[in-house]
Amino acid sequence: MNIAVFSTKPYDRRFLEAANQNLGQNQHHFSFFEPQLNPETAILAQKHDAVCAFVNDVLDAPTLRILAENGVHFIAMRCAGFNNVDLGVARELGIGVGRVPAYSPFAVAEHATALILSLNRKIHRAYNRVREGNFALEGLLGFDLHGKVVGVVGTGKIGLCFVKIMLGFGCRVLCYDPFPSPELAELDVEVVELPKLLSQSDIVSLHCPLFPETHHLINAQTLAQMKRGAFLINTSRGGLVNTRAAIEALRSGQLGALGLDVYEEEASLFFEDRSDQLLHDDVFARLLAFQNVIVTGHQAFFTREALENIAATTVNNLNDWQNGRGGRNLVI
Ligand code: NAD
Repeated sequence: MNIAVFSTKPYDRRFLEAANQNLGQNQHHFSFFEPQLNPETAILAQKHDAVCAFVNDVLDAPTLRILAENGVHFIAMRCAGFNNVDLGVARELGIGVGRVPAYSPFAVAEHATALILSLNRKIHRAYNRVREGNFALEGLLGFDLHGKVVGVVGTGKIGLCFVKIMLGFGCRVLCYDPFPSPELAELDVEVVELPKLLSQSDIVSLHCPLFPETHHLINAQTLAQMKRGAFLINTSRGGLVNTRAAIEALRSGQLGALGLDVYEEEASLFFEDRSDQLLHDDVFARLLAFQNVIVTGHQAFFTREALENIAATTVNNLNDWQNGRGGRNLVI
C-alpha cells in the first residue's frame, strides 16, 4: 500500500523504515511528510491508500472528507489514543482506523515515576543550582515516597504497570477505574471510588483515556477534594485536567506540585523546537512560572523499545488491512 505519514520526525522515519524492511518483497511505500495532518494538509495524501498519523494530527470531519475524496481508506494511528479522530465520520466514509494499543506501558509508567521523583526531590532545581556553584540545600527538602498514599486513576496497561512500581517503593496504593483491571485482585491495593482516592492520596496519577466523560476530570471541584499539598501527575491526555483550575490550586497551595507530560493546548506547542519564538499561550507561561511544576513535551512514550513496537505494530496493522483481515487493533 501507499502510505502518507504525517507529523514525521526523523525517529519516526527511522523506525518505520526498519519495520518495513522486515517485510522483504512485500514492503509498503511510505511518503514522509513533516506537516501535521489537518484540513489544509490533507491533500498531500492524494494517491495514497492510507495515512499514518500521531497524537496531535487533526482527524476531524473536514480532514476525513478530504482524505476519503482522495482515495484514503485506512488510518494507521501510531499511538494508543484516538481521541483526535472523528470515528462517526470515519465510519460513515468507510475509512478503517487502526492503532497501537500497547507498545510499552513501562515507558509511560516509568516517566510518571520520574516526574514524581523529580518534583519531590527537586532535581530540576538542584541541577541548576549545582551548575552555578550553589550547593545550599534550603528549598530542596523532599519526603520519603515509602509509606505515602498513591492514587491511580485508570488501571489499564499503563496504570497497572505504575501500580506495581509504586508498590515497589512501599507506597499504599488506591485505585479508581469503572472497569478495574482483574490483575488488581492479586496485588496489595484498594479499589475505591474517585472521591475517596482524591481525599486520601498524597500523589494522584492519571492513567485513563480522554473521553467526553473524562474531559476535565480534574477541575476546581475535584482539586478541592484532594488532600492539601498533594501532587498531581498527568501522563495521559491534557484534556483530563482543567489547567486554569490547576493553576489556581497551585497558587493557593491546595496542589503541592504538578507534573505534566501532556497539556490540553499542546497541539500548537509540542514536538517542535520553538525556542526562538515568543510564547503566546499565557496559561502555559503561567504554568512554567511555578517552581513546583515540571512539564515535559509528551515524551513519556519516547523509549527505543516503544518506538520499535509502535513501528512493528503499525506495519502489521497495514498488512492486516491490506489482506482484508480486520485485525485486533482496529478501532472501527
Ligand atoms: P488502557 O485502555 O489499557 O487503560 C485505560 C483504563 O482507563 C481502563 O482500565 C479503563 O477502564 C480506564 N478508564 C476509563 N474511563 C475511566 C474513568 N472515567 N476513570 C478512571 N479510569 C477510567 O490504556 P493505557 O494503555 O493504559 O493508556 C492510558 C492512557 O495513557 C491512554 O488513553 C493515553 O491517553 C495515555 N498515553 C500517553 C502516552 C504519553 O506518551 N504521554 C503514551 C501512551 C498512552
